[in-house]
Amino acid sequence: MGTKKQAIYRTDVLPHRMNAGKERQVWALLHAWRSAAVLQAREQWRLVFQTGYPSKRHNVSRTGYDVLGTSYGQMVRWQVVGQIESYLSNRANDYRELVNGSSLSSEVKHQLHFVNRWQAWFKPEALTMKDGTEIPAEVRKLARVLFRHLLHRHRKPDMSKVGMIVDQRCIAVAPSRKATAYPLWARISTLTKGKPIEVPLASYKHFEQRQGKRALSVQVIERDGELAFGVMTDVADAFTASREAYRPRCEAVALDLGLKTLFATDQGDLLGRNWLERLQEHDRRITKLARHRQKSGLKVRSSRYKSYVASLRGFIRSEVGRILNRLVETHAPAEIVIERLNFQNQALSKRLNRILSRFGKNEVMRKLKDLEQRFGIATIEVNPAYSSQEDSVCGYIDKRNRPRQEAFICRWCGGQRHADVNAARNLLARRSGKTTDSRRPKQAILEALVRQFNERFTRLKGGATDPRLSNPYFRDWKAQVMLTGDC
Ligand SMILES: [Zn+2]
Repeated sequence: MGTKKQAIYRTDVLPHRMNAGKERQVWALLHAWRSAAVLQAREQWRLVFQTGYPSKRHNVSRTGYDVLGTSYGQMVRWQVVGQIESYLSNRANDYRELVNGSSLSSEVKHQLHFVNRWQAWFKPEALTMKDGTEIPAEVRKLARVLFRHLLHRHRKPDMSKVGMIVDQRCIAVAPSRKATAYPLWARISTLTKGKPIEVPLASYKHFEQRQGKRALSVQVIERDGELAFGVMTDVADAFTASREAYRPRCEAVALDLGLKTLFATDQGDLLGRNWLERLQEHDRRITKLARHRQKSGLKVRSSRYKSYVASLRGFIRSEVGRILNRLVETHAPAEIVIERLNFQNQALSKRLNRILSRFGKNEVMRKLKDLEQRFGIATIEVNPAYSSQEDSVCGYIDKRNRPRQEAFICRWCGGQRHADVNAARNLLARRSGKTTDSRRPKQAILEALVRQFNERFTRLKGGATDPRLSNPYFRDWKAQVMLTGDC
């Protein structure tokens, strides 16, 4: 009671329909915003090196900054400070892990953590801990070196490309009062004082159906070279309601990252059927452009290249979203079981595999997080080692159980099913298994699975035709059988 619930924002990006004159004014504003952000960041970083912290109160007045006026100027400052704060907090986490993982004495670790907690990496003055001990100069120097090393390894936020986060002082989005083709209008202040403009916005069904409280701030961003408006909605209350209304119909559904389809489930669904073909289309387009640019001696990452990669990412995001939404509709699970997602696929180029490894997993995790917030569906990660070679019915594990990519035919019991569905069933079974803890090394898992199988089937099956005799996974077992002549 009385505690303020934390907001959960979702942003819907809406295209505008303004004329060229208005568009020029918004571009001018965005450019001024970005130059101010670059200047502001320079000042704020100077402050960080002096005091350890950026400051929302710190102002700079310089040409190129004043043109924005007081309100916009302050918004830029808050945005820059927010970004630097979150960057620093990530580096402070890296620092903590680095110190914890080091072989330094516990006393030095303790002192280094103290410096980190107070963000005093660059502080020139002496530092005294709570118990009165002063942190030695060499430890402070070590902290400084460590933190500088981390700053060099991670790119600082680039302010020259930021979008604007405009608050209610300078922007208001409202439904159209007159009957027009545009359901929404944004009224935004320009660089000319007292001369705001009205921007018609296009809408989507998706956005209109989004329940929650519209935030008063609006993002004005550049997307693929065009201006767009990101309207944020606080969905916290709506999510609480949908979580309470959610009635699971089964305990868990397991997902296996398929070769040709995006996901297979233990229930036998193959979801995202054109997945591989669509990826291959993106692959061809990206690879062709990269090759062309390399041949012409240009660097690969052009704006066209980036837009191709962005469109691949958009495809993945919308596919993952669509498919997981459908999964929830059809099965309504209390939990979703997944493997440690590895998007590597031999049917794709090295380049595309590299790109996928950069954000494939993130897109899935993002959606799963969304489902958790929205419906309270928990995600459980299990170890996928050998799950593609193990028969989900009898437990026999053999490389030869996979004669062709999508076929699973058990060499022990003859059972046949789709390989990805079989793998998903194994993942489901591993949800509660201790032998397949997600941190255990592959080899340990193989040994455990083989042992379990041999405990169930102690006798040779069909004499010399027992598939274990020609299966390298069972080499030790075979040696023992030969030794004891237990045939
Ligand atoms: Zn079998």
